[in-house]
Amino acid sequence: MRLFLASLLALPAFGQDIAGPRIRAHVKFLSSDQLEGRGVGVRGGELAAEYLATQLELLGVKPAGDNGAYFQRVPLVGVEPLPSGTLSGAMPGSLLGFRWLDDFVGVTQRQTEIAALDAETVFVGHGITAPEFGWDDYKGIDVRGKVVVLFTGEPPSEDPAFFDGKALTYYGRWTYKYEEATRRGAVGCLIVHTAATASYGWDVVRSSWGREDMQVALSNGAEAMAFAGWITEQKGDEMFRSMGKTAAEMLSAADREGFQASALPIRLRGSFPAKVRRVETRNVVGIVPAGSNQPNTEAIVFTAHYDHLGIDRSKPGDGIYNGAVDNATGCAMVLELARAWQALEQKPRRAAVFVFVTAEENGLRGSQYYAANPTAPVKKMVLNLNLDSFYPFGRVSDVVVTGAGRTPYWKIVQNVTQRFRMTIQPDPRPEAGSYFRSDHFSFAKAGVPAFSINMGNRVAGKSEDEGPKLMRGYSASHYHQPSDEYKPEWDFAGMEEMARYAFAIGMDAANQ
Ligand SMILES: [Zn+2]
Repeated sequence: MRLFLASLLALPAFGQDIAGPRIRAHVKFLSSDQLEGRGVGVRGGELAAEYLATQLELLGVKPAGDNGAYFQRVPLVGVEPLPSGTLSGAMPGSLLGFRWLDDFVGVTQRQTEIAALDAETVFVGHGITAPEFGWDDYKGIDVRGKVVVLFTGEPPSEDPAFFDGKALTYYGRWTYKYEEATRRGAVGCLIVHTAATASYGWDVVRSSWGREDMQVALSNGAEAMAFAGWITEQKGDEMFRSMGKTAAEMLSAADREGFQASALPIRLRGSFPAKVRRVETRNVVGIVPAGSNQPNTEAIVFTAHYDHLGIDRSKPGDGIYNGAVDNATGCAMVLELARAWQALEQKPRRAAVFVFVTAEENGLRGSQYYAANPTAPVKKMVLNLNLDSFYPFGRVSDVVVTGAGRTPYWKIVQNVTQRFRMTIQPDPRPEAGSYFRSDHFSFAKAGVPAFSINMGNRVAGKSEDEGPKLMRGYSASHYHQPSDEYKPEWDFAGMEEMARYAFAIGMDAANQ
């Protein structure tokens, strides 16, 4: 009995000493103007990495990066397509011309200053190979050395057993399309943009692809496509005219079961010059080993990205993207988790690894690199919990843990949620595929059970719709804007509670 009481009193085991004021202090520093928006591979981002490593060291958390340091080197290559790029097609009886930005955008993945292609073209529908759904758009066709033309999205479904019903699976995302085309040995991939398959207009495609793309450096001998890009629906119509079809008709063919890929009578030529620069950036990694007499073979991995968008001098004001909510908050909370974990007298059965990842805003690059090249001395990562962007409006009564239901830790998540007297809110827009846009997804792709812990939008002490309004409002006016800045009146009670919640899930999983 006395023992039981003593352990109850040793509150750290419950993460009860996780404290909002410490989270506030980290957020204040990490989002200050002196950190210059924590851009990747530049001074501000490097300072943030140094700060995080120093904090881990002060806590006594052991380094677990390269060669006994807190840092893991992440080699990236920035590839900026130049407007002098060209693309044209020859088809029976006519020529096809494409104008940069107006008709086509994209970038070479070869990481060279010039890449070119001159190749036959194959229409591969949605470009999906999904054995678990009995679907293969590449069946019976060899696209090696060719350019594949396809649509984003996936076959429409109301059946949860087929492409997860209405929810978007990873197969629907454009990143998957490029990865699969590369695996198939294609030299190029053109996605036909349509209003039906993309939830955004051509203007969004155009502005996100007309600029530098940050890629993980190719390892020697790795294959990469000469061009990965998009074309407008109108250009799609012109291409498919060679088959006597419109883009809309080709799309409905792609949606049908039994779809068969086919060669298009078009030869595409293109040359894709780019400005290429190497970018050195770092993940920050620390470990709290498992309890004594426990083999250090398995670990829970906590992640938060520390990078943000740097400075944009063309913006009014200072142009510093402070990234207070996104994601100084997650970093601060993971530091607090590390502190509480390190303070445990009795460490759990599994180790805890804390990774502050870089280049999330460039397409989850730091987490992608860590998941593929983990440096912490453990054999297996059994769970990744990711923290990204928390709101400073006080405590909430609900959480969003999309994807947790597919991990072996669902029971734990449900129990902990109940213990915290909170409820689990379903993903508000499963068709938008937010699950694929946060760092945990890099781990999920590598086979590690993974999900992000997010606040729901019911704020304690506010009416039903006031909470959602506050959060939507913050998102609408400050998301990815220089105005995502720390304010002294911010309330950190919600982050404190969410950090305790993450700690409890991690702890239960570490002892399972
Ligand atoms: Zn962001």
